[in-house]
Amino acid sequence: MELTKNKSTDIILRSNNSQNDYEQQISMLTNQNKAYSLKKTSKFYQILFFIFLIICGILVILLITTFYSLIQTQKKLSIALNPFSKEPKLRKLFIENEPKVECKTEACYKATNFILDNLNTSADPCVNFNQFSCGKWLSEQPNDKDHFTIAYDKMLVGISDLFKSNINTDDSELYKNMKILYQSCLNQNHIQNNSDIEFFTYIFKEFGSWPLLENQIQSNQFLTDTHFGFEKILSKLQGLQMPFLFSFLSDEFDSKIIMNINFPKDYCKFQNFYPKSNTTRSKFIKMYKNFLDLIKDSLNIEKNSHSNFDEQIDEMLQVAHRIYFINSDLYQCGRRRGPHEYIKKTIDELDTLFNQNKTNFFNFKKYVNFLNEKATRQIDSNTQVVMFKLTFEYLTNLLKSLNELNLSSSQFQRGFMNLVHFHIIYSILKPSEVFSTPHIDIILPIRYYHNLYQYSKHTGRLNPMENLEMIYKFSREKICANSVLDSFNTPDTEERKELQNLFLTKKFDLSLKNQSNLIFSKLLETTYEVIGKQKWIDENTKSLIEKRLKMMEHKMLFSDEVLQPKKNFSSHNLTSSYVMNKLIMRQYAYSRDFDMVGVEQKNRLHDKEHIFDIFEANLLNIERHNVLLIPAGVLIEPIFNQNNPIYLNYATFGSFMAHEIFHLISDILLHYSSEQTRDNYINKVHCLIDNYEKYTKMYYGFEIDGTNSMQEQISDNFGFLIGFKTFLKEMEMNAHMSDILLPGINYTPEQLFFIRYSQSYCRKRDKLSQKDFEKYHVIHEYRSFQVSLIPEFKDTFKCSSNVFMNLTQCKIFDI
Ligand SMILES: [Zn+2]
Repeated sequence: MELTKNKSTDIILRSNNSQNDYEQQISMLTNQNKAYSLKKTSKFYQILFFIFLIICGILVILLITTFYSLIQTQKKLSIALNPFSKEPKLRKLFIENEPKVECKTEACYKATNFILDNLNTSADPCVNFNQFSCGKWLSEQPNDKDHFTIAYDKMLVGISDLFKSNINTDDSELYKNMKILYQSCLNQNHIQNNSDIEFFTYIFKEFGSWPLLENQIQSNQFLTDTHFGFEKILSKLQGLQMPFLFSFLSDEFDSKIIMNINFPKDYCKFQNFYPKSNTTRSKFIKMYKNFLDLIKDSLNIEKNSHSNFDEQIDEMLQVAHRIYFINSDLYQCGRRRGPHEYIKKTIDELDTLFNQNKTNFFNFKKYVNFLNEKATRQIDSNTQVVMFKLTFEYLTNLLKSLNELNLSSSQFQRGFMNLVHFHIIYSILKPSEVFSTPHIDIILPIRYYHNLYQYSKHTGRLNPMENLEMIYKFSREKICANSVLDSFNTPDTEERKELQNLFLTKKFDLSLKNQSNLIFSKLLETTYEVIGKQKWIDENTKSLIEKRLKMMEHKMLFSDEVLQPKKNFSSHNLTSSYVMNKLIMRQYAYSRDFDMVGVEQKNRLHDKEHIFDIFEANLLNIERHNVLLIPAGVLIEPIFNQNNPIYLNYATFGSFMAHEIFHLISDILLHYSSEQTRDNYINKVHCLIDNYEKYTKMYYGFEIDGTNSMQEQISDNFGFLIGFKTFLKEMEMNAHMSDILLPGINYTPEQLFFIRYSQSYCRKRDKLSQKDFEKYHVIHEYRSFQVSLIPEFKDTFKCSSNVFMNLTQCKIFDI
């Protein structure tokens, strides 16, 4: 009896569903035994036979239920574990029923809390997985905040820790400079009291006066052409990284680095500053006047208003209109439209071309000579320049059109200079962007920002200062850390190496590099395996994919070279003036960029290290270099913690890496595979595209062309499948921390994988900006939700339906 009971218990307990049945059987059995002992009749053998029958009956029932539940469990598991060998299913079955161990480490408690800070348990995962995994986050966190911004923030805190301490005599020259910049940035008193005087004194010395600011000078300076240096002013603006009309920067082209003429980045913002109605015109004038008054206050200039104020404003706006709006239909706020056609000319040839277009006040060669003045290396008339045909068209039309303005040359010069000064002040006041989170780096006294903000609030269009409130929300320390990054993380410089070295050796766990290399190789292994399994990909393409993946270079976290000891560095002569320090560093970055012109790409510093910015909290796949960049910035909490159960790291970091790997595969499937394979691929991807279009239409009411984001959708899909499968394989092998549970949270490792993946994209955005946002990356909410559209999800969460939010389950890859 005991033996039978124990045996049954063993078997039955393996299936939770049968637990109650078992208890009933046991209690029946016990009652039978009680009845038997009370009666003590003479019909001993009869009863014994009767009991024997009952026991047999019970045993048969037990066997049937056990067998049934065993099959059920196997069925469920076999879906998740389908691709693997037969034995693991059974082994898995036993593990499933052994009481699992809860992880009690600090990392696990932290991970639990973080998951709970996102999760909304009252939502049904089978109905809307984004609401389930992110519901709490969405209701509590501000717009645009996500896990990546938290990681970036955390890194900024680490960086600012590096620069808080006093300067030590044994600090490297560069470390000293970084500390000086950081500490001058923290010195808000100095900024509020002195920075504008320092700034404008410098600017007026470099660019000449602001005509509307000084009556005296304007009458003399703007009478003759010889005093007006159009080319000189444009080159100086370029040197301060405040490009005007066009920007002139080095770019990689074929094997060499050459100059690239392009649209100024802020073109769209300038357009929005131009007053388009009478109301905004008067607001614009008021803002402009206020700027002048603020400067006059600081510089102790008398506040007499100009007799010809309106006339000057009118001239300025005429010039501005030509610059901002000529051929602007060719551009959508600076974004290129139409074919990517380039022209490639030498400086000489370009000069002739500009001259042919009657742009007599613009001499291209002269402009280049001025640029040379600020750089160490010189570019000559044979240096090649590349630009889009559209940019050239814009420029020649612009120069021609400026020439045809109905203004005398002194009026033009006055208007132009009034605009240049506005441009300078705008360029220094505008918010910077950190991961799409605008913040304001206070460089001038706060009143200047408020003045600009008042105006941009009235224009009601794109509002570059809409986050002015963030001045007070964003900690100054983080802003200053970002400022150090901005100034010393210039590609191809020793500065960048030194900054990376400081951060890595003092604030980063270097052992993470080996760990992530290991994860990477495991993901690649799964990738080969999964690609090999796809019947819809022909064999040639499969081997091409494998070949290309093996050729792919990957840069993991940081280059070991940055850990090498450093040479002596030159000093940047930084001072206690933050605004001047920023200008010095801008000029330095410009001259370093200029120095790259003519350099063979393969000779570029550290062989492609220049594209590797360890501080990025993002992964990048640089197709033209066949390089996958996995910067250290992405291995920061909450994205990654090496003490986490591995399913959490595979859900985030693992899936992101596999996403990037797939970009390469997708490129092969689309462009280098057989026609049949490509057609198969496109057919399969259509399921995703249709879903996305259906979803945006249904929930946002707008039509979106899903093919734009096709690459991202399919890479997401592949990413989480490979992440998931690699984790399952690890669990098969009993890998450390593979099936340990999180404390106080009642989900299986598989479920937690899905939850944690989905949570990576918890982010709220205001609905109006959704349409514009991330044309090539899918709306976050959808990225978060998409993981629930695969068959493996339904089984993991035991969903009865296979249709979520009226969308289709897309099975693209057999894993
Ligand atoms: Zn991508």
